[in-house]
Amino acid sequence: MLEFNNVTKRYADGTPAVKNLDLKIEKGEFVCFIGPSGCGKTTTMKMVNRLIDITDGDIRFDDKSIKDQNPVELRRSIGYVIQQIGLMPHMTIKENIVLVGTLLKWPKEKKEQRARELLKLVDMPEEYLDKYPHELSGGQQQRIGVLRALASNPPLILMDEPFGALDPITRDSLQEEFKKLQKELDKTIVFVTHDMDEALKLADRVVIMRDGEVVQADTPDEILRNP
Ligand code: ADP
Ligand code: ADP
Repeated sequence: MLEFNNVTKRYADGTPAVKNLDLKIEKGEFVCFIGPSGCGKTTTMKMVNRLIDITDGDIRFDDKSIKDQNPVELRRSIGYVIQQIGLMPHMTIKENIVLVGTLLKWPKEKKEQRARELLKLVDMPEEYLDKYPHELSGGQQQRIGVLRALASNPPLILMDEPFGALDPITRDSLQEEFKKLQKELDKTIVFVTHDMDEALKLADRVVIMRDGEVVQADTPDEILRNP
């Protein structure tokens, strides 16, 4: 589904953010990237959806080099959730969830139906569809951010510290909810965190990064046995 072949990223100022990354992610896998701040996790995600260019090497998505794929099409196939989800403040929750539908000019009924269908996936009643982001708690807003990334039904979802800004209790419940959701949806997920507990709880495979390099990539069980 997603393959990194000897991927290196150096920023314009010379910072080597990612070095010789080699990794293959299978369809349906839930992979957590973990490591201290500055180790190259966000840079890796941004290369995948072409928000930044790769310096060396290649990333393949669905067996095609991402360089040969139209960036707009690519981003439609790759959901992206970040910590600062940035819901549109003047749009209702419904409009925020199906933002992609507006860009793709879906008919009104299709947007309506898709928003309802998606909201059912999380523990929020339907009346929230007509509310505005400021009327929601942080945890609820973050749920909407996840739904927004699912709206175009992308096979791959990148999540960069999606629950990082939440209090521990809300965070725990969102992790549980999301893990269940992931099983139902059968998506491939690449999840960035700096919290080992979160990684061990969620992932099929944990990729540990340090200074731009992968130092270990194993199942949670293997990581616990050989830390
Ligand atoms: P690229 O060309 O690979 O997208 P650039 O090196 O041109 O990346 O930087 C993109 C932006 O990020 C620039 O506006 C730059 O000022 C800013 N930036 C520079 N250094 C850092 C840093 N250490 N962390 C975050 N952003 C940075
Ligand atoms: P993480 O997500 O693991 O915290 P990042 O991928 O954001 O790490 O950053 C990796 C390295 O690249 C860090 O040294 C960071 O300062 C640097 N960096 C990030 N963005 C830029 C940029 N736009 N320009 C220059 N350096 C950057």
